[in-house]
Amino acid sequence: MSFSPLGLSEPILKAIADKGYSTPSPIQEQAIPAIMSGHDVMAAAQTGTGKTAGFTLPILERLAKGNYAKAHQARVLILTPTRELAAQIGESVATYGKHLPLRSTVVFGGVKINPQITKLRKGVDILVATPGRLLDLHQQNAINFNQLEVLVLDEADRMLDMGFIHDIRKIIATLPKRRQNLMFSATFSKDIRTLARGLVNNPIEISVSPRNTTAENVTQWIYPVDKKQKAALLCHLINEQQWQQVLVFTRTKHGANKLTRHLESQGIKAAAIHGNKSQAARTKALAEFKSLSTHVLVATDIAARGLDIDQLPHVINFDLPNVPEDYVHRIGRTGRAGSNGQAISLVSADEFKQLSDIERLIKQTLTRKLIDDFEPTHDVPESQANHHLTKPKRNHVSHRTRQRVTRNTNTEKPKNTKYYRSKRTP
Ligand code: AMP
Repeated sequence: MSFSPLGLSEPILKAIADKGYSTPSPIQEQAIPAIMSGHDVMAAAQTGTGKTAGFTLPILERLAKGNYAKAHQARVLILTPTRELAAQIGESVATYGKHLPLRSTVVFGGVKINPQITKLRKGVDILVATPGRLLDLHQQNAINFNQLEVLVLDEADRMLDMGFIHDIRKIIATLPKRRQNLMFSATFSKDIRTLARGLVNNPIEISVSPRNTTAENVTQWIYPVDKKQKAALLCHLINEQQWQQVLVFTRTKHGANKLTRHLESQGIKAAAIHGNKSQAARTKALAEFKSLSTHVLVATDIAARGLDIDQLPHVINFDLPNVPEDYVHRIGRTGRAGSNGQAISLVSADEFKQLSDIERLIKQTLTRKLIDDFEPTHDVPESQANHHLTKPKRNHVSHRTRQRVTRNTNTEKPKNTKYYRSKRTP
């Protein structure tokens, strides 16, 4: 199927063609007609499914037909949890709307507010915002919403995780009652449904991926390794495999800084991205990573939310996340838009519980591989996740089987692979 039957007009179809998209993704196929019909929509879609274009394209179509925004007004408000995601959506809006005479802007905290006030003075058709800064701007009368037609809540699950619920409720209270509401979330938990009840009216529900499953085109495995050996193992993998672009997750900001310093000391170009970094530093780190002048980006979960890096080949979990859903979000950074990716976790014995929770959530046992000289002295116990009824995904081996990878490999396929029974086999 092409984009033409979806009823989008020429300037938008041209922008899509310029971007090189020929076929709508499943979320786009469903969301575009639903949003164009004017209904409220609740969509369960993970990042990487093309959801941004899924809501941006029909919104542009709607805006192209109406009256332009007046001073201090916004016609569409897109709320996102992080600055990176806001910036990313802002870029998509500009790209898809480049042949339309619409104004859009992005506002978030961590940068000066005055230039944002100036941009809002004339009014904008599309405003992309993080909640805290938007409330500040609203309190300063830089923006009001009398002319608002559409509200988009993107990554609603993460908004709740990050404690934005009160800000969201305050913002909703300032909006006109008659409006179209679009809510996107990777998962639809009970809390999200509660939020949705006060937000969307008789919505069309769309779901393009089963809850909490991981992308099919991402190959996942773990290296059991002692905690103190993790940094050395990471350097070894980067050097041996000659990885050029690796996104590494750590649980804490301190851990991200420490690991970045270690990588740099080993001659590996790395940068950290987390909430304590200024927006300028985050933007610079991301740009350098995208252009491959930095090879490793070390990120915390919150900072990485919304990062969209074309064809990112490797995601490494240096630490496993405490919240198992974060594992799904993390590995969703790779294997986007149909490309293949690898998600590799370095797991130490003390992370057994996190590993079990993740395996239970994704309903698969992650393959274990060992590398010579990095075998753990503290074994990671086998997961007790009860998912034996689920068909294993690719790259799966029995949880009693492990794969050993010899040290001097420079391809992903181990040269001398030995299989052996786990010491714990009864
Ligand atoms: P998203 O899920 O919105 O973060 O989009 C993930 C990636 O898919 C982005 O890099 C988009 O540029 C890309 N993308 C979106 N729609 C399409 C499409 N129809 N065909 C190919 N790539 C797409």
